Amino acid sequence: MSRAEADIPVATAFSAQALRAQFPALDQQVNGKPLAYLDNAATTQKPRAVIDRISDYYARDNANVHRAIHELSRRATEAYEGARDTLARFIGAGRREEIVFTRGTTDAINLVAQGYLAPRLKAGDEIVVSEIEHHSNIVPWQMLCESHGAILRVAPVDDRGVLDLAALQRLIGPRTVMVAVGQVSNALGTVHPVQQIIDMAHAADVPVLVDGAQSVSHLPVDVSTLNADFFCFSAHKMFGPTGTGVLYGREALLDSMSPVQGGGDMIETVSFQGSTWNSLPYKFEAGTPNIAGVIGMGAATEFLEGLDLEAVYRHEHALAERAEAGMRAIPGLRIIGEAPGKTGIISFVMQTAHAQDVGTILDQMGVATRTGHHCAMPAMARFGVPATTRASFACYNTEADVDALLAGLDKVSSLLG
Ligand code: PMP
Repeated sequence: MSRAEADIPVATAFSAQALRAQFPALDQQVNGKPLAYLDNAATTQKPRAVIDRISDYYARDNANVHRAIHELSRRATEAYEGARDTLARFIGAGRREEIVFTRGTTDAINLVAQGYLAPRLKAGDEIVVSEIEHHSNIVPWQMLCESHGAILRVAPVDDRGVLDLAALQRLIGPRTVMVAVGQVSNALGTVHPVQQIIDMAHAADVPVLVDGAQSVSHLPVDVSTLNADFFCFSAHKMFGPTGTGVLYGREALLDSMSPVQGGGDMIETVSFQGSTWNSLPYKFEAGTPNIAGVIGMGAATEFLEGLDLEAVYRHEHALAERAEAGMRAIPGLRIIGEAPGKTGIISFVMQTAHAQDVGTILDQMGVATRTGHHCAMPAMARFGVPATTRASFACYNTEADVDALLAGLDKVSSLLG
């Protein structure tokens, strides 16, 4: 394969190389080769600051939050609630009460489905999603539609994976009660024009949920400027721990919602005559939360605040362009999803090799990618493929990772071509 096309310089002052030193997991050999970690859309690696913050919490401050007055509980509560302030600042939320801690994006979307929409939903109402959503932004709505006799409407994408905005506009009608879209597609890297989508939906008085799982660590997000009604994301895709995430909701909407889980911490009073709910955001945080996870998510957010996310976006996009230029020279390789301005996500199929085999050979070369349907089976169906191999970049990836990917694909071609 000719490398000429791959020799596009990544024109950015952003120093991924310097960042790598903060991520211990990146510094290892896999199958005798330096690790090229290109599975960031599934989960990102963690910087030392996040690992240390979690370990320090368990080593020194471990206690339950909110209900005790002893020193350790005070420290735990301060760190846990401090993370809420950090998260609110990071995404531009007007008030800290608008940040609800969840188990992740999936949990947050289900909370909106069950707590916001379920009590209001009537037979014949319509929920609008795009054709390339993650299953967690399809199935919770589908379940509601089944239980309430509502209808899921699907806005199509074109052959590049770009959303058909005119079709979306036509789908928003008098029966629409929610528009739910991802800001960035995990399967294709398409960046949906969420600002336009929100403006369009609001013109019809329809609230919008934005799934930000693939955006918050790859481009700047400000929920107040966007005027999003709900915005969800997961810590583990933004350099934080698994099992924790955020539901941002506009205060008035969160206030109008019913709690979905009952238990400790979410109540104000309990008697056998009935219970009353705690104030926001606690009415949605029943039980002992993932304290260490939230504190770790706070540390991850501080890490992100230290980055220029515009530069991160340009860096990842440039890496993807460099990789795609090299990939286009490989016979029989088809890139799935070529939306202009997409993030650093490349899905592809090879004529002569099953995605699983591509991923296995790449792994032998130390290159970590993901194969399968990426929890986006309708997106796969749209492009007529059962599965793809996906390489996804983060701020710490370099040209060396791209070159390792291209060398790995050369190997696939020579073995299976
Ligand atoms: N939405 C998108 C766009 C995603 O990429 C993912 C994770 N792959 C999710 C939702 C679900 O996130 P989680 O599994 O962390 O709940």
